[in-house]
Amino acid sequence: MKDCIFCKIVAGEIPSTPLYADDELYAFNDINPKAPTHVLVIPTEHVDGVAALDERPELLGRLMSRAVKLARELGLEEAGYRLVINQGEDGGQSVGHVHVHLLGGRPLNWPPG
Ligand code: AMP
Repeated sequence: MKDCIFCKIVAGEIPSTPLYADDELYAFNDINPKAPTHVLVIPTEHVDGVAALDERPELLGRLMSRAVKLARELGLEEAGYRLVINQGEDGGQSVGHVHVHLLGGRPLNWPPG
């Protein structure tokens, strides 16, 4: 989608550090990491947010599954990690292309600020 920064990342128009890519999903390092590991997992197609995936459990499931696999590959499984999806303004969503945050590598406070 025009003017979507994550669509531009998928298209290679904005640089990113890829950690996983296939036809459906893309994972890359967050530019402003909140933890030693902070990865974003997104669908390659434009989807506004998780609210648009209520009728698409397969894609939602594969997004989460890929985040879990990446957490394992990045060595986070033993110590633990957090998966977050922000939805809408009150949810803290700043980029309107659905993304799963994978955070780990330090103890994470709960509840988040
Ligand atoms: P959210 O606030 O849940 O929408 O998260 C958006 C995330 O995208 C933030 O953690 C940003 O740091 C991250 N972000 C924004 N622009 C970029 C970029 N060009 N490359 C990587 N991460 C980005």
